[in-house]
Parts: sequence; structure tokens; C-alpha cells
Amino acid sequence: MDFKSKIRVVEDFPKAGISFKDITTLLADGQAYAQAIDACIKMLEGVEYDVIVGPEARGFLLGAPMSVLTKKGFVPIRKPGKLPYETIKHQYELEYGVDTLEVHKDAIKAGDRVLIVDDLLATGGTAKAACELIEKLGGEVVGLAFLMELEFLNGREKLEGYEVFSVIPFE
Ligand code: AMP
Repeated sequence: MDFKSKIRVVEDFPKAGISFKDITTLLADGQAYAQAIDACIKMLEGVEYDVIVGPEARGFLLGAPMSVLTKKGFVPIRKPGKLPYETIKHQYELEYGVDTLEVHKDAIKAGDRVLIVDDLLATGGTAKAACELIEKLGGEVVGLAFLMELEFLNGREKLEGYEVFSVIPFE
């Protein structure tokens, strides 16, 4: 399947200069969505993981169906104030300012092999923050899987030392 033709590119969203990769058009096509999830699972053949972790919100849309199909647990990572139980937080730097991610403190057990899933790898800041959260809880990040990768932003450099996988490259 030509996944790229299913993704809508919106220029200058959310601000000037950003070429936004909108997956809502892919999600709305049941065949394309199912095949995208299958492609994500397939590229991870040989990676052994116990649990899938996805950052809100688009990490849920890919990570949760992958969890169901692989019968691995799913753990959400969220923006502050959304998770009801005790959390640990990790603050990370954005181009302008800082952001924070949270996870339930009992969501990952020491030694769990964790796969992090998100829709898109850009600078790698979000994914790196997710790795830090998992490792604070004693989990081992065995891989990071993305549907799309903006290769020109070199997110893989920020994720050096981790196994990074993506289905659709954008140059
Ligand atoms: P980063 O932390 O820079 O790797 O950014 C990754 C996060 O921001 C992912 O959760 C993406 O959903 C979102 N994102 C960043 N750039 C784009 C883009 N050009 N199109 C769509 N989503 C993006």
C-alpha cells in the first residue's frame, strides 16, 4: 500500500514553516489503517517486548491497536494532570519553553521490556522524554516505532543507543 498517498500534508500548521503530516485521512480508511498497523508490527519482527507505551494523543491511535493484535499491554503517557493515580513526571525542553509528560508510577515494572510507539519522529524530543520516564521506573526500552519519520530533523541522533524503526520516511 502507498501509505503516503493516504496521509494529508497541511502546510504551515500549527505555525508557519511546519509541514504537518495529518494521519486522520489514513485513519478514516479502514483498509489503510489496518495495513499501517500490520506494517508497524511486521517491522518489529525479532524485537522482544512485554508492553507498548504510547504518548498522547496519536501514540494511542497506533499503540493501542498494536497492543490488541500482539496481546501486549498498553500504557499511556500523558500531558500533566490527566492521569488519575500517582505519577512520575519528566520535563523536557522544546524549541521554545518546556513540556512535561507523566506516566502512572506502577504502570511499568522493573525489568519490563518496553516498546515506545508514536505516529511521527521529528526532533526526537518527545520520544527521548518517554524513554527517560520508562527508565526512571526501571523499564528497559527495547525499541521505538514510528509510522512516519522526518529524516531531515535527525531525531535518530537524539535517540542514539536505542533501536529506532519507522515505516514511512519523509525526506
Ligand atoms: P518531536 O518531539 O520533535 O520528535 O515531535 C514528535 C511529536 O510531535 C509527535 O508526537 C508528533 O505527533 C508531533 N509532530 C511533530 N512534527 C510533526 C509534523 N510535521 N506533523 C505531524 N506531527 C508532528
